[in-house]
Amino acid sequence: MAAEPGLRIGISGAPASTLRSGSHHAVARCRALGIDALEMAWVHSVTLTEAAGRRVRAAAAAHDVALSVHAPYYINLNSAEPDKRADSIARIVRAGQAAAWAGARNVVLHLAWYHADAPAEVLNRVADGLAEASARLASLGVVVGRDVVLRPEVMGRRSQFGDLDEVLALCRRVSGTAPCIDIAHLHARTGGWNAPAAFDALWDTVVGALGPAALDDVHVHISGIAYGPEGEKKHLPFGEADLDYRGFLASLHARGARGLVIVESPAREDDVLLLMDAWAGLAGSTEADG
Ligand SMILES: [Zn+2]
Ligand SMILES: [Zn+2]
Repeated sequence: MAAEPGLRIGISGAPASTLRSGSHHAVARCRALGIDALEMAWVHSVTLTEAAGRRVRAAAAAHDVALSVHAPYYINLNSAEPDKRADSIARIVRAGQAAAWAGARNVVLHLAWYHADAPAEVLNRVADGLAEASARLASLGVVVGRDVVLRPEVMGRRSQFGDLDEVLALCRRVSGTAPCIDIAHLHARTGGWNAPAAFDALWDTVVGALGPAALDDVHVHISGIAYGPEGEKKHLPFGEADLDYRGFLASLHARGARGLVIVESPAREDDVLLLMDAWAGLAGSTEADG
């Protein structure tokens, strides 16, 4: 068995080789491939019913596949239009409620665009919106921080709210939240964060902001990525990009991090298995040493 049962590597969206639609089938396919986690990509809308959620929850338990959710992209808590801001909060609430039905603990969120606004002001609006979504979920019986954890994502484009410091500041302010560290986005946004010393600094920064327990419950996104002066252009397979994914995994291993690492590569399960191999190599080297 894996030497590090506390860190699971998973796939974003159903494996390409899943024959039937429905997340419970995707869960079964993950297990057949040896993949330990699935992030359901509800990136256009949330359509899961409570009954379907129960099927997904049962499949995940039967196959021992950890679940998370990526909420719809169409969320902008900094919209100047009140309707769009209200719709954004409603989308977070729907994603959170459906995640709770399915037994998916982490709900990953893209939260806002800056437009022409000062970043500090955007942070305030995003924090208010997230707190409102959290209160609405509580009124539906879903306790944020207990039933689901809302995960603001580190974003790849410079026009998007969510650099590392903003995400950490937000997580300090709104209870029941924790970061989704997308290392490809972080790299693309800045051009940096792509060497062992930088990965060390990343975890030091996270621990500095949120305390050492943050490493007992990480949520990470990883893939290759193409980028330019504005940041992210598109995700790439690991083999076609410059991200030092091995060095990054080594930094997680060195810290004894636990939680989920979700692969967002367009090479799908091929790259998940590549990453799992690299991780098994690190775990194996520890066993040999020890
Ligand atoms: Zn995302
Ligand atoms: Zn991501």
